[in-house]
Amino acid sequence: TFHKSKGQHILKNPLLVDSIVQKAGIKSTDVILEIGPGTGNLTKKLLEAGKRVIAVELDSRMVLELQRRFQGTPFANNLQIIQGDVLKTDLPYFDICVANIPYQISSPLTFKLLSHRPAFRCAVIMFQREFAMRLVAQPGQNLYCRLSVNTQLLARISHLLKVGKNNFRPPPKVDSSVVRIEPRKPLPPVDFKEWDGLIRLCFNRKNKTLGSIFRQKSVLSMLEKNYKTLQALQKALNGASDDSHMVGEVAALGDGGEDMSMDVEDDREDDMEIEDADDGGEVSEFKKKVLDVLKQGDFEEKRSSKLTQTDFLYLLSLFNKAGIHFS
Ligand code: SAM
Repeated sequence: TFHKSKGQHILKNPLLVDSIVQKAGIKSTDVILEIGPGTGNLTKKLLEAGKRVIAVELDSRMVLELQRRFQGTPFANNLQIIQGDVLKTDLPYFDICVANIPYQISSPLTFKLLSHRPAFRCAVIMFQREFAMRLVAQPGQNLYCRLSVNTQLLARISHLLKVGKNNFRPPPKVDSSVVRIEPRKPLPPVDFKEWDGLIRLCFNRKNKTLGSIFRQKSVLSMLEKNYKTLQALQKALNGASDDSHMVGEVAALGDGGEDMSMDVEDDREDDMEIEDADDGGEVSEFKKKVLDVLKQGDFEEKRSSKLTQTDFLYLLSLFNKAGIHFS
């Protein structure tokens, strides 16, 4: 019996397993990380292709079944099984990751892998089709979103294979796709927290112009708080002043910007106009600073849904140069 809650859908088509392994480009010297080996259909072919397989599996019944399957075979010594939740496991060194994962951990797992050091060569992973299409989406495409921009900053991503439901037992409700993820080496020289802070804001309303996003009061006040905190901190560090009000501002460090609940992306026509309207025409100095940055890069009328990686990197550098920060 399989556990739906653990995302247990076993690959039953041996041709598909072969094709995944072949596309992964495994070398005979590779240490392979497999996540969620289940009953071991993929594991077996990975053992044949590489030097060693490290398999992380949550379900103890699956772990037992795996051990039984490879016991007494020439592969027994090349397989290391780690029982546990992959998201809570300290991953060892690996060259390549090949996995048919439980879809509910797709996003945190992708970022866990991308922050693993030393960086691996590539990962070939089965995802839910829509998640896969978000990973590879380009500016102007419907599914282009924060996930696309963030993962493409850290890796080259390509779509390898479409996989129908009926290749699994039991069949899942959704179609799947196999994707290749190659970490970029070196990474672009950008502070990821800053980057993600900007991208969150921009994709919270991805079809709005940046001009209207950065006129929102909540956005401006968050950025201004960060700005003042940093300025105060810099002054304090320079020993330029020991005014006591500086201490108060420095103490505000850390409560800038969090919990803006920016995780829900949507395309809804929102009520931002109302929020904008009650500004009464009076433009604060800080607001002007922000809008000047947008004008400088000709971003005011642009929409995130159409902006490339390079556009966002440029925008972030303009903001940072003006002392405006997102984390
Ligand atoms: N690799 C096998 C195959 O292709 O036939 C099974 C794939 S099945 C989609 C996902 C597997 O991941 C299941 O065996 C499940 O028990 C395991 N699993 C679920 N959550 C996990 C987690 N957080 N960490 C590690 N393994 C997990």
